[in-house]
Amino acid sequence: MNPQIETLLPEPAPATPVEDIPSTVQALRATFDTGKTRPAAFRRRQLEALRRMLVERERELAEALYVDLRKCETEAYATEIGFTANEIGYTLKHLDRWMQPRRVRTSLTAMPGRSEIHREPLGVVLIIGAWNYPVHLTLAPLIGALAAGNCVVLKPSEVAERTSSALARWLPKYLDPTCVKVVEGGVRETTVLLEQRFDHIFYTGNGKVGRIVMRAAAEHLTPVTLELGGKSPCIVDESADLDAAARRIAWAKFLNAGQTCVAPDYVLVTDAAHDALVHRVSAAIRSMYGDDPQQSPDYPRIVNERHLDRLAGLLGEGTLVCGGEVDRGDRYIAPTVLKDVPRDAAIMQDEIFGPILPVLRVADTDAATRFVNDRPKPLALYVFSTDARTQDRVLAQTSSGGAAVNHCILQLGVEDLPFGGVGESGMGAYHGERSFLTFTHQKAVLRKPKSMDPPMLFPPFTALKKRLIKTLL
Ligand code: NAD
Repeated sequence: MNPQIETLLPEPAPATPVEDIPSTVQALRATFDTGKTRPAAFRRRQLEALRRMLVERERELAEALYVDLRKCETEAYATEIGFTANEIGYTLKHLDRWMQPRRVRTSLTAMPGRSEIHREPLGVVLIIGAWNYPVHLTLAPLIGALAAGNCVVLKPSEVAERTSSALARWLPKYLDPTCVKVVEGGVRETTVLLEQRFDHIFYTGNGKVGRIVMRAAAEHLTPVTLELGGKSPCIVDESADLDAAARRIAWAKFLNAGQTCVAPDYVLVTDAAHDALVHRVSAAIRSMYGDDPQQSPDYPRIVNERHLDRLAGLLGEGTLVCGGEVDRGDRYIAPTVLKDVPRDAAIMQDEIFGPILPVLRVADTDAATRFVNDRPKPLALYVFSTDARTQDRVLAQTSSGGAAVNHCILQLGVEDLPFGGVGESGMGAYHGERSFLTFTHQKAVLRKPKSMDPPMLFPPFTALKKRLIKTLL
């Protein structure tokens, strides 16, 4: 760890006192009830202030990300700070249109009349962030919640404690503190938060806690968005451009040292391409991080010793192609590739969430899709093939939150693509307009003229009325 940077940051603050949590949520509800957050101009000002915070506090946020995860400045900007600022720009550009009521056709039975869908804020929402992209995963849902006109409780992950502190310190100085509150803490504070009534809960993290969140939400009939994870497969066949595939897979896997929810978890490669791909992935790692990745300024660290020990425990099975070094004091695990990994190996059970890439042989892409379909639905699926029929068959035969063909992860950066899971990888989605809609109620409104009722609506139902109703419905 770089001691110079460590000293620039203030010490992390203590967790929010749990006894303050109920009144914090009540205060937000009182604010929401005033209608303050509804006008477009207010929403814009909040979003602009959030963007200003990202620009003016970029250095402090980048330093916090460095201390928490040893993210280099470029990665911190590209995947967190700049990425989030970009999402704000996109939201500001489209907000007026998103807020407009939608006119829809009025059916014959409701004529004469005018039918509209009104997009109204939900109220007070809770956003629970995860540690691996602690700026982006906390603020990207916040953008949607603010754009939609809600009040928000934000609970950053305590695991990335410096980033949590930086957000808790700066958000109240930029955003209206009567509309957005940051609650810091871990299980104890989140448990008390989950006892409160919210109008939506947006959770990012693992499925075990996702179930806790959903159970707590059920008490108040609160809808949830669960952004979870899973083992995202990467399927490669012999028609693929193996140089490009290896480079893209290595980049996506070792970005943030594998601690990315949509990182390729493992590779299924056809026999004919296996050896060439394995060789090229090792070469790609060397070209990105050098012969000793521990010395590379661009290679992050594992978030804490608990996760490091978990990952080190997965290294026993399969043949080591490259990597494998672990330095606990430095929270370092080398970018590692394993081949000949048994299908029942520990590393093939749960999401790896670290810099270890198992490569498994398959006879063909149909065998690969069978392998994928025998497991829970993943958050992402990647297919590398130049054969359009293979691409389509893999996409049609599998189900995943999202997918990319001939690349990995970049589907996330397309604002118009919803980002979310399916089955075990989550429910609901966000990004772009989907973020706005996640925090919006779409209210059905029918406007009728003050009189003019078709007589068949009302009893007594004469034979003529019955005939008319049967003709019309
Ligand atoms: P984490 O440890 O930061 O936990 C997430 C949040 O849950 C934190 O804010 C934490 O305080 C809270 N929490 C933890 N235990 C709790 C409990 N018992 N009760 C209530 N709240 C509790 O993050 P994590 O779970 O280690 O994150 C990694 C997982 O998240 C991986 O599975 C990854 O794939 C997934 N993930 C998904 C996305 C996505 O966008 N779909 C993004 C990032 C991570």
